[in-house]
Amino acid sequence: MTDVVPYRDAYTRSVEARVVAVDVSGTPLVVLDRTAFYPGGGGQPSDRGLLLRSADGRSWVVRAARRSGGDVVHELDPEVEPPSVGDVVVADLDWARRYSLMRTHTALHALCGVVWRDYGAQVTGGNMEPGSGRMDFEFERMGGELVGEIEAKVNAELAMARDVRVAVLPREEAFAIPDLIRTKVNLLPPGIEEVRTIEIVGLDLQADGGTHVANTREVGGIRVTGYESKGRINKRIRIELVEPGA
Ligand SMILES: [Zn+2]
Repeated sequence: MTDVVPYRDAYTRSVEARVVAVDVSGTPLVVLDRTAFYPGGGGQPSDRGLLLRSADGRSWVVRAARRSGGDVVHELDPEVEPPSVGDVVVADLDWARRYSLMRTHTALHALCGVVWRDYGAQVTGGNMEPGSGRMDFEFERMGGELVGEIEAKVNAELAMARDVRVAVLPREEAFAIPDLIRTKVNLLPPGIEEVRTIEIVGLDLQADGGTHVANTREVGGIRVTGYESKGRINKRIRIELVEPGA
């Protein structure tokens, strides 16, 4: 089992780790005993970065990471010879990219929070890249005239400098929180005993596995860059980040 540090500390940029498995049957894959890499999920792409071997300073580019059972697999460039089992390496993130994803992810939760609180619309999906993202809602009366209003409300919430808190709750306790039901927590597989939650204090609470900033002031602001109807009820809202102070 890989110890996945970003689940409990999103601000860790690098960790020292030991190589516990290597697979060279295709693209080289490396499993570490712990990692700073977020393995992707919940609409947030996995991290990229480097593995640096302490003994000789050699480095490898990590193109992507993903979960495989209880492990996190780090995918290297094709055709390179990976480090060996037992090697000590530093798993070092592309921090600028990850921090942008953290700001983007928190911005999308703020959007969900406003749309739920003020319009009663449930989120049905979403996706992001560094600096921009989209959310899909069951939001029949969404239209172009609401875009500016939603953007202003989200920016007002971000400017309130709300703390963002991570918790891990026993399944039963999580199921007892009415707000979590809208993020389809009831679709979680029966085997999952704990539910990780992200709370933008005073605005939004969701079951979520991603990495977030600690306070909404780190997000800066958002701009709504588009909306689309995906049918009578399903609507998609696209946003991009606006730098703090811009
Ligand atoms: Zn999320």
